[in-house]
Amino acid sequence: MGMMASKTQAAKPKVGFYGFTGCAGDLLAILHCENELLDIFNAVDVRSFLMASSEVHDDEELDISFLEGSITTDHQLESLADIRKRSKILVAIGSCACFGGPQAARLGYGDWKERFKKVYGAVKHTVAKPFESHPVDEYVKVDYHIPGCPIDRYQFFFALTRLAQGMSVELTTFPVCSECKWNENECLLLNAQLCLGPVTAGGCDSRCPSHNLPCIGCWGPAAEANVASEIDLLKERNFSSEEIVSKLRLFGGAAMVRRFADLLGIKAEEPARKPRPKKVREPIVAGKAKKRASTKKPKAKSRTKKR
Ligand code: SF4
Ligand code: SF4
Repeated sequence: MGMMASKTQAAKPKVGFYGFTGCAGDLLAILHCENELLDIFNAVDVRSFLMASSEVHDDEELDISFLEGSITTDHQLESLADIRKRSKILVAIGSCACFGGPQAARLGYGDWKERFKKVYGAVKHTVAKPFESHPVDEYVKVDYHIPGCPIDRYQFFFALTRLAQGMSVELTTFPVCSECKWNENECLLLNAQLCLGPVTAGGCDSRCPSHNLPCIGCWGPAAEANVASEIDLLKERNFSSEEIVSKLRLFGGAAMVRRFADLLGIKAEEPARKPRPKKVREPIVAGKAKKRASTKKPKAKSRTKKR
């Protein structure tokens, strides 16, 4: 698929697709839009999409960047800062980029090093230094979030079409339960199943409850999620606090920690414990005042230092 800019493409918005830590399912979901792919590549000038073409232009200004995956290494952090700097609009796609994904499910427990060692052993890091995974908006300003695991192709088309025409994007704010009711499903909570539909962002058309499976929250927390009520409801059905919190955190990751730490009985991670990017101008850190990052290269020690 050729991506070379031509005279006819000059007016098209320049778009980049990037992937960080995740399963690549969101970028694959876009590539699997066989019927619409030509229209997409005709509507915008795709300058970078490594999964689709080895021809990349990673030194250019972009109109829109779509980012998949959470941030897990210092190298990714630098790439992220660079993409943010080059992009007019940055869109996080998928639950890993939006909330940290399953790899951020234990944020705040402070046991990342032990978990890492358990999986990888005492390895020496020579290329990139890893750290606990965080969602993209913990480091840079994100203009839009398209949740999902993976994203829904129609929400992606909707967002791309509007952004390419200079319009804003508003996605679903209601929970999965609304769609579940529209689909006339019998509520699984009545059968004492641990369903996270009441607190999970809709947009998936209640895919799982419609197949008699409880929602596991893979679209992340709904905008106005009433987690306190959901916890009470599930406790009434004899689910343990541990089980409920573990389910809520599986895909809710950092978003759950940020918004409901007290309710979940967990300690919100201190934002200052995260490594800081070198080139980000205005890091967005929940609960902290915005601070202009130093343009000086930080010493490696200070970037990974724990408080
Ligand atoms: S089955 Fe789950 S998603 Fe459907 S109405 Fe009940 S709680 Fe909500
Ligand atoms: S019902 Fe829940 S688990 Fe299933 S796709 Fe929708 S958000 Fe994900």
